[in-house]
Amino acid sequence: MASKINYDHCLCCGSAAISKVFDCKDYTVSNENFEIWQCNSCTFRFTQNAPDEASVGIYYQSADYISHSDTKKGLVNRLYHQVRTFTLTSKLNLLKEVTGLKHGVLLDVGAGTGAFAFTMQQAGWNVTGLEPDETARINAVNNYKLHLEELSSLASMHNETFDAITLWHVLEHVHDLHGYLEKFFKILKPVGRLIIAVPNYTSYDAGYYKQYWAAYDVPRHLYHFSPKSMEILLKEKGFAVEAVKTMWFDSFYVSMLSEKYRHGKDRFIQAAWVGLISNIKALFNAKRCSSVIYVIRKK
Ligand SMILES: [Zn+2]
Repeated sequence: MASKINYDHCLCCGSAAISKVFDCKDYTVSNENFEIWQCNSCTFRFTQNAPDEASVGIYYQSADYISHSDTKKGLVNRLYHQVRTFTLTSKLNLLKEVTGLKHGVLLDVGAGTGAFAFTMQQAGWNVTGLEPDETARINAVNNYKLHLEELSSLASMHNETFDAITLWHVLEHVHDLHGYLEKFFKILKPVGRLIIAVPNYTSYDAGYYKQYWAAYDVPRHLYHFSPKSMEILLKEKGFAVEAVKTMWFDSFYVSMLSEKYRHGKDRFIQAAWVGLISNIKALFNAKRCSSVIYVIRKK
């Protein structure tokens, strides 16, 4: 029996001043409509009546869901894979920079098929990767001989173990938002860094595409963070945002998908234009980027 989660208050700040923004369609799997709601106090957005943890599985069953399979079909996916190679190196450099370590102990949560975990392992880091999807875990073994663990392993991890914990477009998917952040606080070393990358609905491209913005990705994305709401949530958990970094390629990728959702066909030039404007705005303010990376330390 499928159950839905209905919130009567904000998950970030607790305010009861929440209201509907618009309907969003699941273009990837189900074609069902879901409601996006917003907290009028802290600006956090969330998917109202999203499927609960036990019933969300069917919404991940699609060959197009490329973070879990490794399909290279279509121009958008091919481009995505080329860009990924470049971004993997950027992520490695970012981790070295923010931890001040050449080699450290890393936990990558939601490792997918293991590309980032493998990159870090090759660079000499001691890496633990967690991935809930069994097919993705099997692919990680086949692709990289990398053994990812199930999410349940998290419970048995010891306090102050990790120099870095990374979630690359993962936090917006997890049902137990508070439980995860509290656990991360415990298992992160006192000087460790938590790295959270999420889509940013306050970006130019999000405002331009509105309900067609691909990074709402309902109902798989349960939360839609603004920089302000992310800072409030993290502060409540004992963390502080140290830096906000840009992810330049996401604006183009998300705009390409959004054009397709809105017009039913690829419109590459329009998408490139919107992505470019979005990035120009982010050039002056990283908090306007289509997707942002939060570099987080303990308070
Ligand atoms: Zn709120």
